[in-house]
Amino acid sequence: MSSHQDGPVRCPKCGHQSVSTVRQIIAAHDLAIKAAFIQGRLNRVQCPECKASFTPTVPTLYYDLEQAFAYVFAPAGPDRAANVRELVAALKHSLPPEQLTPSLAHPNRFATRESIIQAILAADGITPEVQRTQAARGKLLDELLQSPSEEALRAKATAHDADLDPAFFELLTAHMQAAHMEGDQDRAQTLLAFRTFLGQHSSQGRAAIAAIDTRLGLEVIQSREELLAQLLQTTDADARAALVARGHVLIDQSFFQLLDASIDQAAHAGDVSAAHALYVLRAALPGLMAEQEAQTRAALDRAAALFSQIVSSPQPDQVLEQNRAGIDEAFFVVLGANIERARRQGQQEPARALELIGQLARTMRQPA
Ligand SMILES: [Zn+2]
Repeated sequence: MSSHQDGPVRCPKCGHQSVSTVRQIIAAHDLAIKAAFIQGRLNRVQCPECKASFTPTVPTLYYDLEQAFAYVFAPAGPDRAANVRELVAALKHSLPPEQLTPSLAHPNRFATRESIIQAILAADGITPEVQRTQAARGKLLDELLQSPSEEALRAKATAHDADLDPAFFELLTAHMQAAHMEGDQDRAQTLLAFRTFLGQHSSQGRAAIAAIDTRLGLEVIQSREELLAQLLQTTDADARAALVARGHVLIDQSFFQLLDASIDQAAHAGDVSAAHALYVLRAALPGLMAEQEAQTRAALDRAAALFSQIVSSPQPDQVLEQNRAGIDEAFFVVLGANIERARRQGQQEPARALELIGQLARTMRQPA
């Protein structure tokens, strides 16, 4: 027996029996296969008779060399013990003897697909307790966002100082990116201002935000004044466009008011060249903004199309492989937003599957 095998499968809808190739051995390091299994997409077949698609129940062995354990999913039935024996024998056959630890040779058994998937998530650190912590973090974020006043927000932030940890700021940043991706710039901007505020009023915030932004390559510009100063210092067209992209959420009505006030100030002070530079910048901004929006939208559309192609494919690793050039920052934004959405809806399996796709995509990402 190899990791792939042809076997009879019966359509649960019309009862038609057909032969399909199914995979019964899954390695934890095979991220795409693992993701598909966790999401119930592995071995999915379409009935040749009625065209319904379904996932046949096949005994499956999952093993993790790094953590040195194996689990086996063996549905109750007369062949149960034989199925387990066959799968363990196949695993033994496929591994070099030095890798075959006793725990791999004696896998824990699970009678349902749900129970083995929960055990796999737990082994990955996503225990029921972690799931509860994630839910509590989301609830705290909602409560903070609904604070009726700045004072109330400050008081609540102080009371929850220990909970405003790096993981909390990860979540907040993911919300911010999701809003940006969905084209909701008002919300993205509100969340940015909110994040900056919490960064200043919590003991771990500032360092957490800096670490996240460095990792994401976000280089978020924190204030309108800072953005204006940087824009004025930059005369190169490409560099200016890049600044507009980075500071996009800050360029709003208040920003233009700040710009107008600066023009007045320079004019009153008789600084003609400064007033002129400000005026030229003001004239150029709407065009730069429109260009930036169009580019962002196009990049996100491309990323979203690639994303949906990957998650609907039985071979996500191959789709990624064929689209290496498309694995860019926008792709990770789309991916992150979808992981966050799945988590918010309590869908741990798809969230984990997408994380694995993300890990795989990172290994394939071409250097920029
Ligand atoms: Zn059928």
